[in-house]
Amino acid sequence: MLTRARLCMVAALTCACGAGAARAEDPHQETPPTATAHRGVAHRSGDLMGVYATLEGKRFVDLTHAFGPDTPHWKGFGEMKVRTLYTIPKDGFHVDEFCHVGQWGTHVDPPAHFHDGLKTVDQIDPKDMLMPLVVLDVHEKVANNPDYQLSLEDVAAWEQRHGPIPEHAFVAMRTDWSKRWPDDAKMQNRDAQGVAHYPAWSMPVLKLLYEQRHIAASGHETTDTDGGIGATKDDYSMESYVLGTNHYQIEMLADLDKVPEYGALVMVSFPKPSGGSGFPARVIAILP
Ligand SMILES: [Zn+2]
Repeated sequence: MLTRARLCMVAALTCACGAGAARAEDPHQETPPTATAHRGVAHRSGDLMGVYATLEGKRFVDLTHAFGPDTPHWKGFGEMKVRTLYTIPKDGFHVDEFCHVGQWGTHVDPPAHFHDGLKTVDQIDPKDMLMPLVVLDVHEKVANNPDYQLSLEDVAAWEQRHGPIPEHAFVAMRTDWSKRWPDDAKMQNRDAQGVAHYPAWSMPVLKLLYEQRHIAASGHETTDTDGGIGATKDDYSMESYVLGTNHYQIEMLADLDKVPEYGALVMVSFPKPSGGSGFPARVIAILP
């Protein structure tokens, strides 16, 4: 283990050597000298230290709900159970056993969730876990109509402000539905007949995004891609479409009201269960 003093010395040495080398090799480097010296992180031509120096000064926003036994979930799932196997007073360390379905809390739905033979969680390309973040904000329309479906006009309005949705983007639909979390009844918003009412994507928008804009993935704040009316009838045709393109989606995102509609990056991560058909995910936006 390095002591603090030794760490400081190593950092100082690296900084001095790295900064000198960078100046000698590449006088036109993009990263300004102040960034190269930041926290002793050296920036040599071709490495990513300059990128890191830029990113670490930015604001990170967690778009993930913490999950537990009370987490709202799809109607067909049982409850989550947590069992403590070891405790620090008794055993010197703490271990819990978690039992829940893969589609629990903020989670990833890989293509294999709906289509045998397509990608499972462990087969998702790591490059599809860091993307430009595009937010289609329809929260005001949803406030007036909980069954609102994202329209081509919403996409056109976004593109008028920012240009075409970039390739390999992660496109999130902002509805502010996540503010109802963790109240399952409010998330489902059922009427007297038991029909759920919450917003949905639409097939024309999904086709535009995946087939023409070539986005990497999409996500929403609700429990379903298809909206409450569709889910009540067990109509999951839009979710089936998205996963059928062999791209993943994220459900039950949080705090999309805290990120800009363009200009941020998003990191999506999850464990790597072999052959996994879903798993809780962690989704973090890095603001510009
Ligand atoms: Zn799902």
